[in-house]
Amino acid sequence: MLFSRMVIQYNVLPDTRVVPSIVKACSGLNSLRIGKQVHGFCVTSGVCLDSFVQSSLVHFYLKCGRMEYACKVFDEMSDPDVVSCSALVSGYAREGHVKEARKVFGKMVDVGIEPNLVTWNGLVAGFNQSGCYMDAVNVFQEMCGRGFKPDGTTVSSVLPAVGNLGDVLVGVQVHGYVYKRGLGSDKCVVSAMIDMYGKCSLTVEMSKVFDEMQDVDVGSCNALISGLARNGLTDDALEAFKRLRSQELELNVVSWTSIIACCSQHGKDIEALEIFREMQVCGVKPNAVTIPCLLPACGNVAALMHGKSVHGFCLRSGILNNVYVGSALIDMYANCGRIRLAQICFDRMPFRNIVCWNAIMGGHAMHGNANEVLEIFHLMEKSDQKPDFITFTSLLSACSHSGFTEQGERYFKKMQNDYGIKPRVEHYACLVTLLGRAGKIKEAYSTIEKMPYEPDACVWGALLSSCRVHNNLELAQVAADKLFELEPNNPGNYVLLSNIYANKGLWKEVDKVRDLMKKMGMRKNPGCSWIEIKNKVHMLLAGDRSHPQMFKILEKMENLSMEMKKSGCLPVTSFVLQDVEDQEKEHILCGHSEKLAVVLGLLNTPHGSSLQVIKNLRICGDCHDVIKFISRFEQREIYVRDTNRFHHFKDGFCSCGDYW
Ligand code: ZN
Ligand code: ZN
Repeated sequence: MLFSRMVIQYNVLPDTRVVPSIVKACSGLNSLRIGKQVHGFCVTSGVCLDSFVQSSLVHFYLKCGRMEYACKVFDEMSDPDVVSCSALVSGYAREGHVKEARKVFGKMVDVGIEPNLVTWNGLVAGFNQSGCYMDAVNVFQEMCGRGFKPDGTTVSSVLPAVGNLGDVLVGVQVHGYVYKRGLGSDKCVVSAMIDMYGKCSLTVEMSKVFDEMQDVDVGSCNALISGLARNGLTDDALEAFKRLRSQELELNVVSWTSIIACCSQHGKDIEALEIFREMQVCGVKPNAVTIPCLLPACGNVAALMHGKSVHGFCLRSGILNNVYVGSALIDMYANCGRIRLAQICFDRMPFRNIVCWNAIMGGHAMHGNANEVLEIFHLMEKSDQKPDFITFTSLLSACSHSGFTEQGERYFKKMQNDYGIKPRVEHYACLVTLLGRAGKIKEAYSTIEKMPYEPDACVWGALLSSCRVHNNLELAQVAADKLFELEPNNPGNYVLLSNIYANKGLWKEVDKVRDLMKKMGMRKNPGCSWIEIKNKVHMLLAGDRSHPQMFKILEKMENLSMEMKKSGCLPVTSFVLQDVEDQEKEHILCGHSEKLAVVLGLLNTPHGSSLQVIKNLRICGDCHDVIKFISRFEQREIYVRDTNRFHHFKDGFCSCGDYW
């Protein structure tokens, strides 16, 4: 350090002209320790009384994020100037200390220091940054009212606040101001405006601002894409993205990430994977934000190979320790049926936050590993991490999947008593499932009646499913009536009720439900399954014969069903909705998409390798039996994920214990 050498070796005392530069150097180094030493020297030597020295110290402490020191130096200033006042004001605003910021601002006006554009901008930008959006907007309006002219910086700082408040009226006012002041050529202003309109859901205005731009830059493109995506206009976002790419614009990692996020959040998983590949071909390096946006897409369609290669990428690029990347990997492996790999990822994480804990617990819960979930919860309690409501959703759902009735009820109480978390509707749904599966259907029903707020479709759905398992017709009808009211267009409820009727042989009632469905203009939600074979994801629809290998699939299925009959297993025909002859029922069962996908996997993968299928509906009892048989007969491990949980078939058994 030059400073220390100056003092010690040459015995030269730095004066008021030198000290500010030394303090500035400390700011650059971000070294609080050395800065404080210099400050100490200033106090003992008396140079501290100089206003330039004081001002430099205020800036230094603000840069180090030490508001309290900055404030102390400021208070000792005999002659504060507009620069240090502005710095302090914006420091407070950035920290979200509205009152203090206002106080210093008021004080400076009182002592006759006129706030300048920097002061105002510091306030607006600071409040926006700390999430005090209303205050940012108020300051902006106050500024205009007092006759100050906001510039491009002010406008691009206030617009995000306006967007986050969703205040269309103020947004339009600011737009008018931009127009009047001719700020429309400022690219930062324009992209902030696009972003604001997107956040206010005014997509037409948003696109108009974009189309009127003279020359488009990456910032405004990104604002447009994320604005379209935010409003669910996935196709428009994709189209805009393609159009912008064809204009040879250098799109950056933010652009790619937002379009990937858009696809994976709106069910376009395969598109998300394709765009990720294109991104790498273009030489744009994904970052720690891109990966958590992409991984859910891999998990959704069980694209394990893609997921693994992303994992490899994270390892190579050193972002594996990021908690969000790590949690996304845990989710992905769990969703792809590889709960052990998910556990390894979790175990190797150097830092964990609540998202990581919830990811691993949610993963085990989905796989029905209740003991693991309970164990991890105990670990969590021992660590410093406090559980949140998501933690308890996993805990309760694990208990309900595994029939841990008593523990489940205990945790439901613990959540409220020990952690002060009010049960949400999803917790009630778990509790109803828990009781219902244990055969305590009446208790489940009275829990619903005692709920402090209106039960939603999930809660009634949980009751209806339990009624199916226990063949309780009376309460099934109660639950179904509520469900038809709450979600008249969900075919799943009609199917469940008709399954219960069919089980009891009440074919007339089955017909009635079917007529009701027809009247509502509904068709059974087509069952759909996905399977990844050799890096390609195949989609199969129930009853759809269009797959190129369909002939082979049916042939193999025929074969398997012969073998199954030989071994004494008969297909469970009550799972078909229609009241038809048994032989025809069997034919319809053949068409279920999960079975088609499993057989396609058998035909196209080496003997003994495991298979993995995702289904968009709950697995049916027949397919469950057939796949159990296949796992033994063909000696394959088969993972099937339905909407509810994971089924891991091995040697003729399923991990769910036939309880789902
Ligand atoms: Zn089936
Ligand atoms: Zn199962």
